Amino acid sequence: MSTVATVEAIPVSYPEPNDFNALRHLCLVKITTHDGVVGWGESITQFPEANFAVKAIIEGMAERVVGRDPLDNIAIWHALRDQMWWYGYNGGIASYAVAAIDIALWDIKGRLLGVPVVQLLGGAVHERLPAVASSHAHYEDIGRMVEEAQEWVAPGMHGLKVGLGKRGNARLGYEHDRDVEYMRRMREGLPGKWIMLDCGWNVKWDVKTAVRRVQAFEEFDLHWIEEPLGAWDPEGYANLRSKTTSLIAYGEKEWNVDGFERVLGTGTVDVVGIDPGRAEGITGFKRAVERIEFHRRQANAHCWSSAIVTAASLAMSFSSPAFKLIEVKPLRNPMQHELVPEPIEHVGGWFTPPTKPGLGIEVLDEVVDRYRSDKVLAAV
Ligand SMILES: [Mg+2]
Repeated sequence: MSTVATVEAIPVSYPEPNDFNALRHLCLVKITTHDGVVGWGESITQFPEANFAVKAIIEGMAERVVGRDPLDNIAIWHALRDQMWWYGYNGGIASYAVAAIDIALWDIKGRLLGVPVVQLLGGAVHERLPAVASSHAHYEDIGRMVEEAQEWVAPGMHGLKVGLGKRGNARLGYEHDRDVEYMRRMREGLPGKWIMLDCGWNVKWDVKTAVRRVQAFEEFDLHWIEEPLGAWDPEGYANLRSKTTSLIAYGEKEWNVDGFERVLGTGTVDVVGIDPGRAEGITGFKRAVERIEFHRRQANAHCWSSAIVTAASLAMSFSSPAFKLIEVKPLRNPMQHELVPEPIEHVGGWFTPPTKPGLGIEVLDEVVDRYRSDKVLAAV
């Protein structure tokens, strides 16, 4: 029996080219067994204070992991959730810690058994899934934003998702006429491609603004609108959904099955966003996806961080008919293209089921070391 020897929490900080080179933060976990098998996990903490808090919680939870058999990963997941009864009952920082440890244990389990995580989850239900580009517009000029989007999808991607209310000069999400003109020209410049728009935290539409905006966007075949009324507004979402036909996507800020069940119960969500690096790992993700399948809604992996969460998301997405596409960051970035020697890439706009054991990625220690938060933040 191979048992866990060490659990190391490693906060990293890196510039994200898809977000104006903003410094973003993740807490990685490296778990090593007594016979030297290594698994990697990630939590998408995003902010430095959350990152260091998660490191502390992972270190506290480690005693429930060390000495255990990684094949008992779901039993360990339950033990971790028991540990957080007081400080994470409703989700939060503790969910990140569980997420990272859980992903690493699935990785090790797959390696020990010599099978990919998607097979541990019961096997792939899709032969292939379409890739879409997910990014933030970088220009003020609408024509230049359309050209940029055309560059993103040029490798064969089936569509794209653009963030509104993000950093920089794009100023999308704030002015009705300009936003509608943007959508009109995006449709004109990207015929036949899915176009999704994702409202960031700075977009504060009220219900009537959202209705008016989405009605105008759908004239140009908006595939889905994401978080137009934020993470929770059942009445507003019911109102919006009754007046529009573009799919409504939200859910990515939920932490656990309870949260997803609450969102699904409103009957107002068409596409449920879910991040394994937040929602209690692959185990939490799987349990939530079973509820999404039950409610007959679409699920969508929120994977916009490292190759670890992308690998976990691929495994999950292939394991359930609720998933219809895979989002990828179109611009090369450190946590996808440097962290692993063989970055996770679509081929001509398609992903096929992962075949290598565990998460199927080799994380490079020297790259992790280069982006350790203590080093990066000391140099800022
Ligand atoms: Mg989103």
